Amino acid sequence: MATIEWRSPASEMAVKQFEVAAEKLNLDSNVAARLKRPDRALILSVPTRMDDGRVHVFTGYRVQHNDVLGPFKGGIRYHPDVNLGEVSALAMWMTWKCSLVGLPFGGAKGGVACDPMELSRNELQGMTRRYTAEIFNFIGPEVDVPAPDMGTNEQVMAWVMDTYSQHKGYAVAEIVTGKPVEIGGTLGRREATGRGLVYTIIEAAKHLKIDLARCTAAVQGFGNVGSVAAKQLASVGIKVIALSDRTGGFYDPNGLPVECFLEYAAKNPELRGCPYGEPIGNADLLELKCDILVPAALGMQITKENAGRLKCRILAEGANGPTTLEADEIIKEKEIFVVPDVLANAGGVIVSYFEWVQDLQNFFWTEDEVNKKLRDILTKAFHEVLGVSQREKVGMRLAALMLGVNRVARAMLWRGLYA
Ligand code: GLU
Repeated sequence: MATIEWRSPASEMAVKQFEVAAEKLNLDSNVAARLKRPDRALILSVPTRMDDGRVHVFTGYRVQHNDVLGPFKGGIRYHPDVNLGEVSALAMWMTWKCSLVGLPFGGAKGGVACDPMELSRNELQGMTRRYTAEIFNFIGPEVDVPAPDMGTNEQVMAWVMDTYSQHKGYAVAEIVTGKPVEIGGTLGRREATGRGLVYTIIEAAKHLKIDLARCTAAVQGFGNVGSVAAKQLASVGIKVIALSDRTGGFYDPNGLPVECFLEYAAKNPELRGCPYGEPIGNADLLELKCDILVPAALGMQITKENAGRLKCRILAEGANGPTTLEADEIIKEKEIFVVPDVLANAGGVIVSYFEWVQDLQNFFWTEDEVNKKLRDILTKAFHEVLGVSQREKVGMRLAALMLGVNRVARAMLWRGLYA
């Protein structure tokens, strides 16, 4: 970002995207200068007792970008590539995402640099509890509400909730979202991001007058987002021709049996060995001829090297930041309709908001209510973005960022500078 501490490829990308939106909006320069940097960034040592008795010190982060619209909100990521720059970029994107879909939240993100697949359950629990204790003074139901992200799940959220609650002395369900339903989680949260992604694809297809029943899709990533997206795509009649996880991909031009992949994933830690389709690499999957391409894994997968070879009609970004700035320029020249990350994957944080509201009120909704409200919010946001894109003659990504940034900037101008 603006200063060296959090500079990284991801944060440079986030800041440049912001600068383009700020310029197009003619944003107040004082506000723009403030929004380029996070409000606060924590770097933590997370000592963890490993199963062999040794103590390993992991590095953890929590970056709080902006809370002008409400408490900070954002996931906790466990991945070997987690670093201050990446977490800062992800925190900034959370600010625009929450603002874009009209949630009363600011943006944050956290993480620990580790490979969760290499840790035992015991080690994962110890690391999570110590990480939570280290950020204890900086989070809270009205302050900063964490959630799952890549490499974390409802079990990790349950440990965060329990650790926070043990320190407080009573159960505080509303400290974290994406929890198991038994301890105050909401119905529909686990599926929310993938489900929301498909709602936005349905709107995109209507706009482009594409018949989804004749469409093919390729999905990169089979975690919480990719697996649910694949299931939902298949459920609306789309032929899923390629799937992958970090161990590699599977391709069948006649369609893959998504249910069998879900069953396989429920029993195995990775898709490697799943007996369907032809093998395909994660990079090759992106270049397949298909109607809908869903990158739902790591960031920066679509770059200036491969963007020219994309052959999809709709690019629906399940991952955060999967498309680099240079790739964006190339994609603009092609007939590809982009549903940008801050819109396409906002379903997760929208249902996190529903979970937080239910916890605060101790009054719980049915899954149908959750899904209907999710669809209403995403459909409205999609059409607002499309409207700006058409009026301002800009791409969907810039339109989404303009809407997200503008709401935050207006709130900042109303509230003024406390000095
Ligand atoms: N980690 C998810 C995201 O990137 C969800 C965040 C949340 O639910 O707070 O949007």
